[in-house]
Amino acid sequence: MFRISPSEIGTGRVESLSSFAVRYAEHMAVRFIEFYRGLLYPLLFPESTRVTQVKIPPAMVIDGITKTANDWSQALESIASIENAARCTLLPFTGVIAARRIVTLSRRWCPQCLDEMAERGRHAVFEPLVWRLDEMKHCGWHRRPLVDVCPKCAKGGQYPFVANARVGCCRYCGSWMGQPPGDVAQDVTDFDVFVAEKCEELISLPAMLPPGAHLLPSNLVVQALRDVFFRGSATDMARAVGELPGQVHGYIKGEFPAPLAFFMRAAAVTGASMREIFVTNAFESTDISASTHTFELRRARPRRVFTQESIENALRTALSGDGSKSVQAVAVDLRMEAATVWRRSPDLCSQVSQRHARYVAASAALRRAAFESKVHEVLSNFKGRGIRPTQDDLREALHDPACFLNEWKRAVIQQQSRKLDL
Ligand SMILES: [Zn+2]
Ligand SMILES: [Zn+2]
Repeated sequence: MFRISPSEIGTGRVESLSSFAVRYAEHMAVRFIEFYRGLLYPLLFPESTRVTQVKIPPAMVIDGITKTANDWSQALESIASIENAARCTLLPFTGVIAARRIVTLSRRWCPQCLDEMAERGRHAVFEPLVWRLDEMKHCGWHRRPLVDVCPKCAKGGQYPFVANARVGCCRYCGSWMGQPPGDVAQDVTDFDVFVAEKCEELISLPAMLPPGAHLLPSNLVVQALRDVFFRGSATDMARAVGELPGQVHGYIKGEFPAPLAFFMRAAAVTGASMREIFVTNAFESTDISASTHTFELRRARPRRVFTQESIENALRTALSGDGSKSVQAVAVDLRMEAATVWRRSPDLCSQVSQRHARYVAASAALRRAAFESKVHEVLSNFKGRGIRPTQDDLREALHDPACFLNEWKRAVIQQQSRKLDL
């Protein structure tokens, strides 16, 4: 049996999992629906006995940060004998970037990139994961907007899976979605191209990590950016990137991960690379005085009207989780004011709050204990060398530039210093 694996692994243009699934069926010379019924479905739903009636759910997202993405990654690893299929999805960014709306429902593509791949042969055609990022609206290589409607039948809503799905082709009429004759690429701004390049840089990060290592979680990343570039001021940072201060405080406290739009703007303002931001937190230049980027306040997307049922469902989901979700975080997911959520469902909100408070207390105790033992270790080391460390020495040894800005950390350092007689 022939073997194929996802294209461009380890680069910013790695193939999306949905593209790979479709391409795998093409290589087996079967229609996607047959591949789905015969090989995928039995692995995804081992208990089910229905096989012939199985339909593909239309708007299924397997490239994002979802359980479905995880299930499909495992199924495709086993079918195609490949490893790390999750790297064809956004799963490595779990807890690093907000999962909500990180990928688009519909496919997006650069017609010129598709044509160039097709020139190398049908086997070379695939759809990169980066095209599915909601923030990625342009092709940096061709400086043109990505497209999401078929050039032939003009239909949008190009979800990846349909009975006879083919990569690079319309799900409705089957036409090739490369550049139609006479198509003139529109102009794009430098910031559009910047975002496109940074998105590719971002997608290439998971492959750079040593085995077992993870990208840094959102709250640590936002804290580091705040401390290194904005002298510890979340308000200054919010102003610079055009975000509401309350949102930024939420990211810092780890109530919810920051969305990709926030990180793109932070990268533009600070000049930091994606690797510095999400992998090392060691910034080459920390001077932002030359930054010329200014951003309008980022508005929430148009409000949707939420039914009582959907609010209660969101709260119940939070309640059945590990307690890490606050009412505020649920409200952000729903794009509603927390006060409105409280008014609409006071009992559930109060249960979610109590559970979240217990979670916060428990994780704060853990964080404090971890910090205490780290401080103790660092101070003992100084003492062993007969050195009385300065604040700068400690900031460096603890890799924590803001440790003296934080009240409880300052208290821990004083307490441990007294203990060791320093
Ligand atoms: Zn292109
Ligand atoms: Zn079409």
